[in-house]
Amino acid sequence: MTLTRRAFIATGVTLGVAAALGQMPKPARTHRDRWYQFGTLVDLTLENQDPAHAAEVSARLSAALQRMNDDWHPWKPGMMGDINRALGTGQPIRVDDDVRRMIGQIRRLYRSSGGAFNPTIGRMIGAWGFHGAPDAGWTPLGDAAIAALRDTRPTPDDLFLDGDRLGSRNLAAALDLGGYAKGFALNRARELLREAGIERALINAGGDLAVLGDAGGRPWRVAVRHPQRPGAVAWLAVSGDEAVATSGDYERFHQYAGRRYAHIIDPRSARPVSNMASATVVHPDAAFADAAATALIVAGPSRWREVAKAMGAETAMVIDESGRLDMTAAMHSRAHPLAA
Ligand code: AMP
Ligand code: MG
Repeated sequence: MTLTRRAFIATGVTLGVAAALGQMPKPARTHRDRWYQFGTLVDLTLENQDPAHAAEVSARLSAALQRMNDDWHPWKPGMMGDINRALGTGQPIRVDDDVRRMIGQIRRLYRSSGGAFNPTIGRMIGAWGFHGAPDAGWTPLGDAAIAALRDTRPTPDDLFLDGDRLGSRNLAAALDLGGYAKGFALNRARELLREAGIERALINAGGDLAVLGDAGGRPWRVAVRHPQRPGAVAWLAVSGDEAVATSGDYERFHQYAGRRYAHIIDPRSARPVSNMASATVVHPDAAFADAAATALIVAGPSRWREVAKAMGAETAMVIDESGRLDMTAAMHSRAHPLAA
């Protein structure tokens, strides 16, 4: 919520009178704002701020995030759509510095995750019907179609940079940054807030969030949603420049013949993941946390520890399809599980 001018003036008057009487505590000056981006609600909390400055920073931030939202959308017209069309023809296309840096990072994440995080599987994600609004007549792909998709084997190693141009050796590669872009945007948001002189902030994009500083002498308390029922499964103490990312099979899925088909695809089988309900990663780098949480869902209950270790995701927590909660030692020291 943004304080309207009238509300601000009214508050100012009240505080002015009270301050003169010496009775009222100092104004809290917490600025809250909310808008819709990246397919989710974005909530911003700025602590200890001059209201006019906070409102101006908040407007600047939502405009910057909107540009990223438009540029990075994998299938709507825009920068990423143009890149994907070019990759599909084998014709290298000029890309900006951000995209070049991002290609380097997704390649490292792909390798360290043993292939679990693979944002070049845009065509697989599209073929499973996750590039559009949910369709009531949706049916799962058949085995032959899945095998054909699997055999295309696109990876970030197929992508190459030739000067400022990006190309692909595999025409089946298409970038879908749905598992990473929110984190990238949160990193950018934190930079923008810091540059604007903000010292204490929390920005939450539908469960992926980043914080600056603390919540006023105590850590921010972040609730982790229970993947299978309403409410939280745990809360985490988060402070300093940290980010928390949660991925879940409940976020987007198709339902068919009593089965759930999740929006996260195992690149090696070209099938939706099925045995991990959610994964949460805490890390200073929000893009890393976002990618790692997606990778842990793909790794599944039997391999998540191995993949977390290989990626360097020390602070991680997962919930399997039966609701069993498991976490690393580093997560134990800051997670407060809530009674079932
Ligand atoms: P998240 O909620 O961060 O786990 O992101 C899920 C989104 O990541 C999906 O909606 C897809 O856009 C994309 N995605 C699906 N499977 C993968 C995968 N194996 N590696 C990278 N991105 C994926
Ligand atoms: Mg992710």
